[in-house]
Amino acid sequence: MKILAVGKNYANHIAEMKSEFDKFSGEPVVFMKPDTALLKENAPFYYPEFSKDIHHEVEIVVKISKEGKHIEEKFAHKYYDEIGIGIDFTARDLQAKLKQNSYSWELSKAFNGSAPVSNFVPKINFSDVQNINFQLDINGETRQKGNTSMMIFKIDYIISFLSKYFTLKKGDLIFTGTPEGVGAVKIGDRLCAYIEGEKMLDFEIK
Ligand code: MG
Repeated sequence: MKILAVGKNYANHIAEMKSEFDKFSGEPVVFMKPDTALLKENAPFYYPEFSKDIHHEVEIVVKISKEGKHIEEKFAHKYYDEIGIGIDFTARDLQAKLKQNSYSWELSKAFNGSAPVSNFVPKINFSDVQNINFQLDINGETRQKGNTSMMIFKIDYIISFLSKYFTLKKGDLIFTGTPEGVGAVKIGDRLCAYIEGEKMLDFEIK
């Protein structure tokens, strides 16, 4: 399986990162994480030694349910039937250094354990997948709050776009971008992520 991720998909997060919209190409920013990035069943995240500024990015995650490529946007809804929530851990200090040199983000995004994900729930549980509330609490305090209606690129478009380049396979995961409120985590923190008020993820930084 592979993990695909879309960056800069919520305007208020782009604003907080001071990314320049004039450089915006009109297409999603895409990166990948290997299967070794995956953390399941609330496994703890071990703070890596190569960074002093690991940031949380809470994101709605879509699980692909059947193989497809060149999927038309109007048929994209047939290619996923479950939704979950995950953290796109980012080594912000390393990412800044890589960006400065115009290098790829990979090292700062795709490292071991950089993709904790929850269990998945059927998308039919939601009346509209583009109107789902989600949030991240750290040590009981809400740090990020979002709604999928605020996505710049909607889920069906993302699936269609990605499938032009990558054959999507059953079990592949797509991280759909983070709303504002990203920030650093530290050893000892407890992260809890919620979809529509229901706790989906609960793990510790070690
Ligand atoms: Mg992200």
